[in-house]
Amino acid sequence: MVKDEEVDGLAKDIMTAKKVVVLSGAGMSVESNIAPFRGPGGLWEKYDPVEYGHITTLRNAPEKAWMMLSEMQREIMKAKPNKGHYALAKLEEMGHIRSIITQNVDGLHHVAGSRDVIEFHGNLQSVICMDCNYTVPSSEVSLDRIPPFCGKCNGPVKPNAVFFGEAIPSEVIKRADQESNSCDLMLVVGTSAEVQPAASMPSLAKNAGAKVVEINISETPFTGYVSDYIIKGPAGDVLEKLLNKVAALKAFG
Ligand code: NAD
Ligand code: ZN
Repeated sequence: MVKDEEVDGLAKDIMTAKKVVVLSGAGMSVESNIAPFRGPGGLWEKYDPVEYGHITTLRNAPEKAWMMLSEMQREIMKAKPNKGHYALAKLEEMGHIRSIITQNVDGLHHVAGSRDVIEFHGNLQSVICMDCNYTVPSSEVSLDRIPPFCGKCNGPVKPNAVFFGEAIPSEVIKRADQESNSCDLMLVVGTSAEVQPAASMPSLAKNAGAKVVEINISETPFTGYVSDYIIKGPAGDVLEKLLNKVAALKAFG
């Protein structure tokens, strides 16, 4: 059960903050039926993401990498944003959230209507040719042949996501660093903080003087260390309550 008084406190923090930035992870999309890597029902139980999602595996054993990728892509194509994604989009529209740095590759923040989304790890909605960089929506690519091939040059294509062993594009890191360094409140939603460098964003925010608040069903390595407090509960429930509370504070003070 999500505690109302905890959500009230966060709503007040949001109302007084000048710049709120969100860092979201796989837990954000669990209520959209996309499994996280870790935890019960996680992809981890079936595949080791570091092995199957490594760029070397994609290059040297594409059938193996695409076993996990095609399963994730199928899940993501069926998924719809949940009430948490919609609440964040609405809070942005109301002027209370500036940007979202997401580790997710499902594109659901965009679908829900959030405008300033920094996709730290790219997305699985499109594929890019490893030879000529030609990019098309994933839905236009047949998985009958693995690796799928480029319609322009016949080269192998890969999801437009950052694989283990690959660098995050420098302009993406730069923007995420800037947002983390300049916010005065960071909401860390549904992430276990185990994947670097995204996991360092809360510390950047903290060191720059921001308050850091977690929303997660369980404690993480940040809890009681980087974060000021945690609201325990499913992201969708907590964020919907938060939106209602902020709207009420705005209307009635
Ligand atoms: P993770 O799988 O390591 O951790 C998920 C976190 O979410 C945990 O801390 C868990 O306690 C929490 N959680 C689970 N259900 C929740 C809920 N309903 N509400 C709130 N919190 C909940 O995920 P991660 O730290 O984001 O990192 C894993 C990497 O895997 C990321 O880089 C990401 O790109 C990738 N990934 C993405 C997706 C996606 O796009 N939806 C799914 C799986 C993995
Ligand atoms: Zn090509």
